[in-house]
Amino acid sequence: MSLSFLQEHLTALQDSKLYNRIKVIEGAQGAWVEIDGRRMLNLCSNNYLGLANHPALREAAQRAIEEFGVGPGAVRSIAGTNSLHQRLEEQLAHFKKTEAVLSFQSGFNANLAVIPALVGKEDVIISDALNHASIIDGCRLSRATVYVYPHRDMAALEKLLGENQGRKVLVITDGVFSMDGDIAPLPEIARLAKQYGAITMVDDAHGEGVLGSHGRGIVDHFGLHGQIDVEVGTLSKAFGVVGGFVAGSKLLIDYLKQRARPFLFSSALTSADVAACQKAVEILDASDELVSRLWDNARYFQQQIQEAGFTLGQTETPITPVMLGESALAQALSEQLFAQEAVFAQAIVYPTVPQGKARIRVMVSAAHSQEDLDYGIAAFKRAGTQLGLI
Ligand SMILES: *Cc1c(COP(=O)(O)O)cnc(C)c1O
Repeated sequence: MSLSFLQEHLTALQDSKLYNRIKVIEGAQGAWVEIDGRRMLNLCSNNYLGLANHPALREAAQRAIEEFGVGPGAVRSIAGTNSLHQRLEEQLAHFKKTEAVLSFQSGFNANLAVIPALVGKEDVIISDALNHASIIDGCRLSRATVYVYPHRDMAALEKLLGENQGRKVLVITDGVFSMDGDIAPLPEIARLAKQYGAITMVDDAHGEGVLGSHGRGIVDHFGLHGQIDVEVGTLSKAFGVVGGFVAGSKLLIDYLKQRARPFLFSSALTSADVAACQKAVEILDASDELVSRLWDNARYFQQQIQEAGFTLGQTETPITPVMLGESALAQALSEQLFAQEAVFAQAIVYPTVPQGKARIRVMVSAAHSQEDLDYGIAAFKRAGTQLGLI
């Protein structure tokens, strides 16, 4: 058997305009990036607060390398945990207002770690239809029976909870849905889960650094401290570095250190990553200036782009889905912006979003200036007019 069937798949993707040519960034992440030698306005990164190239984070990473070197040496349970990991976890627990935190190599890994640790073959997971791929994969790994409820449909959730009474049930939701920017009805999920005796888990990857006081996330946003059993987070988005974590009770974290497979069988985050993350948490703890600038920028951009005649999805956060429908339209606008306007705004198409719901997901950040935003808005207007979209 040869691998030529892969070529057929790739050709089909190209034919249906679903093939993604990945752009190479030559230099650091920021409001502007260099691609193919051109300076481009960056409207697609999850670097919400501009921390990915922040001088204080760079300096913290460099200092950590001087003291701790570059590699962790082993998985954390054998020889890979150092005092930096421990300190970061204490800081994150304080930031999230939970008893304890365990860090992982990525948010994706944190989901693969925690879901199979909590439920198995005999158990039930109830999951929102738009949950992130890493939640879906974590659910599959657990071998639990998975029931999916329509996006944010609390009546459907309650029905499934009712049908599965007497079993161990884990309810999982994204906090902020990454492709649409809407927020999970977490107070209602917490209330229903309590009523039916289910365990609750929220993946706050797009909520941290964005929602709640000082960007503490969705639980803080709704004042639900102590009412959600498991919080998954990422250090790769607003925190500007890389990594993931689980926040919750000391009991939960103690258990994960004994049983979570990505913790036990994959090496730790490097010292530079961890030290930079510590600095990000310190900056957020000390001031909410970056968070409020992010929101100001997002509100301005969303208002202007709607006034220009574009259709936005039902976002409640800085995630800005400019809805275009067919994949080819989203690709055409993205390409026009890239080639003619020096704006990097990636089209998001099937299978990341459903067929017919292609979009450009604009990610405005605290690092963008008023001038940058106006540049981007003018570019969208010109390209949209040329393509007959507005
Ligand atoms: C981005 C994202 C992840 C993955 O986080 P990484 O740290 O990049 O692995 C997990 N869950 C959700 C909801 C996300 O949006």
